[in-house]
Amino acid sequence: MRRLYEPMAYGPAPIADGFWPTTVEAIPEHAPLQGAVTADVAVVGAGVTGLNAALALAEAGQDVVVLEAEQPGWGASGRNGGFCCLGGAKASAPALLKRFGEAATRDYFRAERAAVDHVAAVLDRHAIAAERHSEGETLLAFRPSDNKGLQDLAEEMQRFHQVECEVLAKPALAERGFASPEFHGALTTPIGFALNPLKYVLGLSQVLLDAGGRLFGGTPLVALSRDGDRHLLTTPAGQVRAKVLIVATNGYSSDELPGWLAGRYLPVQSNVLVTRPLTAAELAAQGWTTRQMCYDTRHLLHYFRLMPDNRMLFGLRGAMRSTPAAHAKTRARARADFERIFPEWRHVETPFFWSGLLALARDLVPYAGPVPGMDRAWTALCYHGNGVAMGSYAGRLLAAQITGQGPETPAPLRAGLRRFELGRWRRALLPLAYTFYGLQDRG
Ligand SMILES: Cc1cc2nc3c(=O)[nH]c(=O)nc-3n(C[C@H](O)[C@H](O)[C@H](O)COP(=O)(O)OP(=O)(O)OC[C@H]3O[C@@H](n4cnc5c(N)ncnc54)[C@H](O)[C@@H]3O)c2cc1C
Repeated sequence: MRRLYEPMAYGPAPIADGFWPTTVEAIPEHAPLQGAVTADVAVVGAGVTGLNAALALAEAGQDVVVLEAEQPGWGASGRNGGFCCLGGAKASAPALLKRFGEAATRDYFRAERAAVDHVAAVLDRHAIAAERHSEGETLLAFRPSDNKGLQDLAEEMQRFHQVECEVLAKPALAERGFASPEFHGALTTPIGFALNPLKYVLGLSQVLLDAGGRLFGGTPLVALSRDGDRHLLTTPAGQVRAKVLIVATNGYSSDELPGWLAGRYLPVQSNVLVTRPLTAAELAAQGWTTRQMCYDTRHLLHYFRLMPDNRMLFGLRGAMRSTPAAHAKTRARARADFERIFPEWRHVETPFFWSGLLALARDLVPYAGPVPGMDRAWTALCYHGNGVAMGSYAGRLLAAQITGQGPETPAPLRAGLRRFELGRWRRALLPLAYTFYGLQDRG
């Protein structure tokens, strides 16, 4: 496969100290595909994108086969921070307005909101217990000068989402359980909730099976070709012939599957640290008692939330390489940042730490649409670290594009994926971008 990172990124090492698997009784093992099968639709990748597409298609009466190289949720979908929130594009509202105009930009923002509602509806409709908490999400200013930006964002939220955000000044933070020497103000957007991502994705897999979908684990797609009017998907021990193909591999994509993807997505690492359960006395000592999911105003942001079992989940962007040394260094950086933000928890153990790949687009807008140059092939990817909601919805949108029934895809999501200028060397952009953003993030 033609992938961008060192082999470690695609193996078990980054999730050896993962937390989510400890929250479920067992992770079902789906057997590999053996021999030749046919289907209406073949989906590659069993994360939230692929599973939501597959489920909507199976519910619409299509015969669906999902191929997953590892097991459902093995990718970012089963190892993320569980923030189900607005987002997906990294482009700013002014940039979207300039590129797409007022009406299409509004459509796009409506889709961000619909994405959150979609996940809530899926969880409710199928009774998936995913440990939801948090009333919307809270953005914290890490320097006093960022409070102005919070006001601007409140206006943007009013304009594009018609919601009133709550803005808190520094003195109110401790009163509301957000005490940290690091933060100087807060803005809460009343949209979104947090969830246990592995429970969500395992729940989705089961619902898909119940709806008649077929799911094969340990089944990497290794070659794509045509057999008459069908896609021919070759795996180590089998083949699928399908009328329709969906590629849902996001940060774990390979540049030749299909070839159109080459150079059009940039995988980057994100990391999560999780503490042991904090005692009531420890929570009181820090003054952090809120269950809100939070992130800070840095470009290279931290995201964190106190989970229902009183563990703190603390995420941050990852290293530029995937090696044991880079992993250890990032773990140390995560720990140092955690101690700076929550100094009263300097003694608290953080036994869980893992990393994974998400994907960025050159124009900073996700894509959900046909694969140009391929007949009846679709893909959705590049949610810029906000794929729990947007990836789920993008999968649903692909199903709607295929069947002609369901929500319309807003124009910005269909605008295409431009190639990164450096093509297969595009990872070299990361040091420049991280240095640039790191300078802007100085306190
Ligand atoms: C550490 C971390 C924290 C994050 N936190 C958040 C968060 O809090 N909120 C949020 O909204 N987003 C978050 N994200 C991003 C979010 O998880 C992703 O955007 C989303 O899960 C992407 O879903 P997906 O289904 O498109 O891809 P993935 O979940 O990555 O799934 C792709 C799947 O494709 C499979 N695959 C790849 N190649 C092949 C092949 N050739 N054949 C068969 N299968 C293949 C992989 O094994 C993988 O399981 C985070 C990401 C990471 C890594």
